[in-house]
Amino acid sequence: MISVKLGGENYQVGKIVCVGRNYVEHARELGNEVPEFPLIFLKPPSNIIFSGGKIVQPDYSNDMHHEVELVLLIGEDVKCVSADEAENSIAGYTAGLDMTLRDIQDKLKSKGHPWTLAKCFDGSAVLGEFVSMKQLPLNLDSRLSLSVNGKEKQNSDLNKMIFKPNDIVSYISSVMKLERGDLIFTGTPAGVGKVKKGDIIDAALGGAAELTVAVI
Ligand code: ZN
Repeated sequence: MISVKLGGENYQVGKIVCVGRNYVEHARELGNEVPEFPLIFLKPPSNIIFSGGKIVQPDYSNDMHHEVELVLLIGEDVKCVSADEAENSIAGYTAGLDMTLRDIQDKLKSKGHPWTLAKCFDGSAVLGEFVSMKQLPLNLDSRLSLSVNGKEKQNSDLNKMIFKPNDIVSYISSVMKLERGDLIFTGTPAGVGKVKKGDIIDAALGGAAELTVAVI
């Protein structure tokens, strides 16, 4: 079982719901249409590693990409909440990485198959330390950024998200209940790219959260 910590409390992670194509420029860089409603997929909690850990590059891919994302921690069970009500169910947030095997994903997409093999592998969900919404409410003017070996690759204002955190929680809760400890990866801005063995990835969300991982 995987747990995350927030304010001295443990939250057992039940599921990870990820949003795809939530920034216009990222949807376009991969040649995708901008969605009318959030595109969602799942990762198992066993894929999680924390800042300071190592991502083992799977040997069946030659194109593992970084995707830096705002990650939300759900603090209470919710079903069919409105966007206004949704805000109260978000207990915390951090910066995370939705590591993606782009070559595998392209193959799966071309066949119309699910993305599971491209998105779900050990180490594919990287988390920084969670920040409490009560102590430091999420500011959508914050910058989300990522660098590889000290060179900046991704940098965007959270306000560029097509679907904002409250809308995402409301939408997901309309199709499946969200439970205390569930995580939501809210999509990546433009600038995704390949990493290789030996690379160091650093990511940050304004001054609120940061993470570092090595690719081995
Ligand atoms: Zn993503």
